[in-house]
Amino acid sequence: MNELKIESKRQKIRTAMVCLSLLFFPITVFYFSPYLAVYASVYGIFAGCFILIAAQFIAAFFFGRAFCGWICPCAGIEECCAIANDKKAKYSRKRFVKFFIWIPCFIAIIALFIRAGGVKTFDPLFLFLTDGKFIPMFGSHDFYAFWGMTSLMASTSIIFGRRTFCHTLCWLAPVMSVGTIIKNVLNYPSLKIKSDPSKCVHCGMCDKQCPMNLDIQNMLKTGYIKSIDCIACGKCVDICKYGVLKYGIFNKENSD
Ligand code: SF4
Ligand code: SF4
Repeated sequence: MNELKIESKRQKIRTAMVCLSLLFFPITVFYFSPYLAVYASVYGIFAGCFILIAAQFIAAFFFGRAFCGWICPCAGIEECCAIANDKKAKYSRKRFVKFFIWIPCFIAIIALFIRAGGVKTFDPLFLFLTDGKFIPMFGSHDFYAFWGMTSLMASTSIIFGRRTFCHTLCWLAPVMSVGTIIKNVLNYPSLKIKSDPSKCVHCGMCDKQCPMNLDIQNMLKTGYIKSIDCIACGKCVDICKYGVLKYGIFNKENSD
């Protein structure tokens, strides 16, 4: 096995899933766009994007940010861009920028719904089907949404390094981060990365592989990886030859 290439079945499946999701991105783009969320809330429409946001939030109670690692089309873009630049960038405080994007968006959506008189219509296909007709990707609004979003994701990752968009700008990531915090605080059985610090030989391979540039060697000392930036990709687990890390549904900490 190449030292920096993980050949595990899990990573093959994960890569295939994010690439497949990327293929569908020209169709699903609107559901990821803050534009649709704001536009729909002006008219009091509970659109498909809100179903996605609610699903991400609820899923995070059990799976943390696994959506980002396994399903998100942006992951497909950013992992393709890693071929051009796989630099491990330090984000420190920049990772909080996404919260400063999410909070005004969230407040604006709530305010617009209130101004519209609450939820008036449930329309999961809002702007996707109009008068029964499918709006093609290269039609009108979605042309700009698609190329704007893909260009931003690709350019930030190519210029600054691995998963920069996911780390610093994604407006949906905070939704799952909040769900992950709740999961960690309530400490019920859920998807976790468990560690046995006594087995670690500090080879540093997990740190090198982590797409979110997390300080795994330091975090594993607590027995679990609990960062709200962990996307549960499992790369650290798959690269570790010493069996330090385990991936799965684990019971409460200190009880399993
Ligand atoms: S957890 Fe495994 S891969 Fe990471 S530093 Fe320890 S021994 Fe190396
Ligand atoms: S800590 Fe492990 S599972 Fe989490 S993002 Fe990093 S490599 Fe993936």
